[in-house]
Amino acid sequence: MTRKTHDLPDSILLAYSTGQLPEAFDLVVAAHVSLSDDSRARLEAFDTIGGAVLEGIDGAAVGEDALSATLARAMCAEPGTVAPRRSVDPVLPGPVGDYIGGGLEDVRWRGIGMGVRQSILHQEDGASVRLMSIPPGAQIPDHGHRGMEMTLVLQGGFRDEFGEFWRGDVEVADEEMEHTPTVIGNVDCICLVATDSRLRFNGLLPRLAQHFLRI
Ligand code: ZN
Repeated sequence: MTRKTHDLPDSILLAYSTGQLPEAFDLVVAAHVSLSDDSRARLEAFDTIGGAVLEGIDGAAVGEDALSATLARAMCAEPGTVAPRRSVDPVLPGPVGDYIGGGLEDVRWRGIGMGVRQSILHQEDGASVRLMSIPPGAQIPDHGHRGMEMTLVLQGGFRDEFGEFWRGDVEVADEEMEHTPTVIGNVDCICLVATDSRLRFNGLLPRLAQHFLRI
């Protein structure tokens, strides 16, 4: 039996394809697409369709024939139209390696307690993206979200109320969702996490910790 994977929904791939995501989320999408053949194929289709729609707006009307021709082209599109790419680093996908200018050993980690380490890669207009390294068995306190949170696993795995997430899997959380992720397996879980506003932790101690974690 093959394991259930967690890929990005079409809506987010489309938003990425049309340049509507903050840079913090672009990096997570590009990194995920580097690891997921299924998401890469869907993204390439969106890129092809998006380009054709833009051409249609510029000039001739896009009729049904044009749309089916576009879909046909999308089905046999050549791979490699997107920035995502494989990497020589066994953990960091190409786009993340490009971002920090090296491999995992070049990440500038900062300990934030309980064996948890993080490295903030980019912050802009309330959105941020960071690498986090969390030891086996550790739990991220129960929390909700004030905006969107996107978590991509790069090493190890975690489990929460919505399933198990391993390398290449991505979880998207929004205002509606509360969860308590716990690291599973026997290696540190390394994740790439983008958020577009501060998380809302339940309970005073986690709220104090949040002040120091700056998430
Ligand atoms: Zn969360």
